[in-house]
Amino acid sequence: MLIIGSHVSFGPTQLMGSLKEALSYGANTFMFYTGAPTNTKRKDINSIFTNDALELMNEENIDLKNIVAHAPYIVNLANRSSEDKYNFSIDFLKEEVKRCEELGITKLVLHPGSAVNMTKEEGLQNIINGLNKIIDNDTKVVILLETMAGKGSELGRDLEEIKTIIDGVNRQECIGVCLDTCHLNDSGVEIGEFDLYLQAFDNIIGIDKIGCIHINDSKNEKGSHKDRHANIGFGTIGFDKLIKVIYHEQLKDIPKILETPYIGDTDDDKSRLYAPYKFEIEMIKAQQFDSDLFRKIRDYYKK
Ligand code: FE
Ligand code: FE
Ligand code: ZN
Repeated sequence: MLIIGSHVSFGPTQLMGSLKEALSYGANTFMFYTGAPTNTKRKDINSIFTNDALELMNEENIDLKNIVAHAPYIVNLANRSSEDKYNFSIDFLKEEVKRCEELGITKLVLHPGSAVNMTKEEGLQNIINGLNKIIDNDTKVVILLETMAGKGSELGRDLEEIKTIIDGVNRQECIGVCLDTCHLNDSGVEIGEFDLYLQAFDNIIGIDKIGCIHINDSKNEKGSHKDRHANIGFGTIGFDKLIKVIYHEQLKDIPKILETPYIGDTDDDKSRLYAPYKFEIEMIKAQQFDSDLFRKIRDYYKK
């Protein structure tokens, strides 16, 4: 069965709110940030919301093991310009892992980091040291390193960099990979030849390390190193290539998560924004591109 969902919010009712939002999109999984992705302010996990959510998931046949959390993208484990900053990132991510464990979530996506004012090798080493401090003997969460577009000095832009990080981690059962189709395209991978990429991934890292796939089209050309997501079928990758990734036999048990942009009232008017996910998920399930998708989304939410 296709395991598909989208990024959802983790609002005042925490996991319960995320679950209800996902259900409204017809999703059977979802991904959330435990707070704003751009800051590190976090509230304690409330077990009442968690228990209610687990009950509803049970009724709706949603498997907790397919649900994914995403660490805030401002945390940069490569940055060791000061020990205080570095230790703050490590401590924050330790807490993030704990929050996941309280929620019963076993997958946490992390952007590896950016090598600002340092060599790539130093950056990778800082990430490895950091992960070895975050992951201890009791850790049950798997940290999924996301494949990055290679914007600026972003690390994790190719299989070798990801492999270097994984090799340096002591408890490798606690580390995996999250593919992102927009990032792969922007890093130079031809999504139309995804089988070749997957073969290379298997040779270098091992396909069993893939724990999540972010499904996004891209606003930019292959190899642009930009990282701007487009709606499914409305970017440079295109619908058919993404459908092949989504329905790939070797990846059928891996959750697919949409992180595509919200739609404005017109292409220029973004004062109100509508989530595209219900409609993108329907289109993916039908395996038929709908060029009229934006109009349908606007009509639905304007009512
Ligand atoms: Fe991400
Ligand atoms: Fe992503
Ligand atoms: Zn991205």
